[in-house]
Amino acid sequence: MSAQDQCIFCKIIDGEIPSKKVYEDDRVLVFHDINPQAKVHLLIIPKKHIPTLMDVTEEDMTYISDIHRVAQKLGNEMAELDKGFRLLNNCGENGGQEVFHLHYHLMGGEKLPVKVKK
Ligand code: AMP
Repeated sequence: MSAQDQCIFCKIIDGEIPSKKVYEDDRVLVFHDINPQAKVHLLIIPKKHIPTLMDVTEEDMTYISDIHRVAQKLGNEMAELDKGFRLLNNCGENGGQEVFHLHYHLMGGEKLPVKVKK
């Protein structure tokens, strides 16, 4: 079985594991983090299995702008985010990454502490 077959975020994309979806298009999915670290804590992921930011190829770099475009859209549309938010990627073991499918944490809805892991 490949890493992609075992990936929990791929299973969320495929609907095999339930999630609270906030936004979806053909490239990106946004859902609520199961263990929220802020009043609003969303995960923005590409629909393609890319393990970490370091694995993003030149060809797939557009996923990064897609993710930022969706973060900006949510920042505009969600009233809880009108005073700002944090967009954060934990990359690799030392970065604290636990799920090896590229994802950005979008956190807000309150004044966040300056130091926060995720
Ligand atoms: P990271 O440490 O950056 O890899 O973050 C992984 C995040 O995925 C954590 O904040 C987890 O709470 C979250 N997470 C893990 N499993 C699920 C799931 N089934 N649904 C939603 N969020 C999840």
